[in-house]
Amino acid sequence: MLTAATTQNVYDVALENFDRAADALDLDSDTREMIKYPERMLTVTVPVRMDDGRLHRFEGYRVQHSSVRGPAKGGIRYHPQVTLDEVKALATWMTWKCAVVNIPFGGAKGGVTCDPKHMSAGELERMTRRYTSAILPIIGPEQDIPAPDVYTNAQTMAWIMDTYSMTKGYPIPGVVTGKPLSLGGSLGRSEATGRGVFYTITCACEHLKMQLPGAAVAVQGFGNAGSVAAQLLHEAGARVVAVSDSTGCVYNSKGLNIPELIHLKTLTGRVAGFPEAEAMDPAELLTLKCDILVPAALESAIDSANAPGVHARIIAEAANGPLTPAADRILNGNETFVIPDILCNAGGVTVSYFEWVQDEQHLFWEAQDVYNRLERVMQTAFRDVLKIHLDRKVPMRLAANMLGIGRVAEAVKLRGVYP
Ligand code: GLU
Repeated sequence: MLTAATTQNVYDVALENFDRAADALDLDSDTREMIKYPERMLTVTVPVRMDDGRLHRFEGYRVQHSSVRGPAKGGIRYHPQVTLDEVKALATWMTWKCAVVNIPFGGAKGGVTCDPKHMSAGELERMTRRYTSAILPIIGPEQDIPAPDVYTNAQTMAWIMDTYSMTKGYPIPGVVTGKPLSLGGSLGRSEATGRGVFYTITCACEHLKMQLPGAAVAVQGFGNAGSVAAQLLHEAGARVVAVSDSTGCVYNSKGLNIPELIHLKTLTGRVAGFPEAEAMDPAELLTLKCDILVPAALESAIDSANAPGVHARIIAEAANGPLTPAADRILNGNETFVIPDILCNAGGVTVSYFEWVQDEQHLFWEAQDVYNRLERVMQTAFRDVLKIHLDRKVPMRLAANMLGIGRVAEAVKLRGVYP
């Protein structure tokens, strides 16, 4: 996706961040060549019979960036702005993300360029099944395991699981994660990304000696990640003063009633019109006077144009890639503490890993067990990244990239070059 202020392509952002971390790690050029680029990229045509009888051709992608540390892993996104470059960037970030939380997966991502908000359930099902059939040769529980991402959900995963299983001839729940519970999903998966965001914010507050109760929070994006993070922050006594989604933004200086806002969003699909709140320009949310800013929407939300106006002490990147490198440079000079995406939002893929383990073992865990394990993983990852940040005096993003890329580099050196 391009932004007006920078026009920097997101895949170039991913490559730039890689180079910076590789330099800081003093990685040799052979290792860089081995781990920097996607291993496999597939572009597929997805013809779908629409409800009105017309045939519509969609374009879909699946990019496997790395299988060095384990099967490729990452979500599938349905959005009008999906491009191959975006999917390549997101797949690259998945590799470093899985390594940061030290789960035995590589990185992948998929996407279909479409507008799911204007498609019926039947059209979405037919598109999902045809897309699955097109990427079927390269996915599988030991090879590449999709999951939900922007505008895909447990139902989407159920269709993928069914299409894959029917083709193979027997049920294979481990081919996707983020499935419904009744198909081998895990307790705690649907809220895992937001819960992980909350755990890392708690760690950051502890590190900065900041009080979470009473802290003012602004959340951009009220989907799966943003709404759960907002709910948990609200329960912990923080004041969530502003929330936006793709249709509008609501503000209340005393704090919004998040459970009621989630109720409204579930009923109407939007946050706009929430009583006991003022309407606000969504662009203003990012520069609001608040303690914690949670960008939980799409890439490049904060760029060189609006970064100078950001006031938050903590930015918790629930979305993937919400800050451009130019924004990073501005905020690094501003004492802003950034919890980078590959650490902050890694709770989703972590519980995906738990789900995959449960599917492989046909043995399922209790919710509290999932939460406890997730909390431990997130705390350990936070501590590991923070240590590099403090020891090497580098920004948190660079520290996280150094941790993730360093782990992948170590694995690739041990494996060597085939043949
Ligand atoms: N789409 C999520 C992410 O960006 C989850 C991926 C997964 O669970 O595989 O991390």
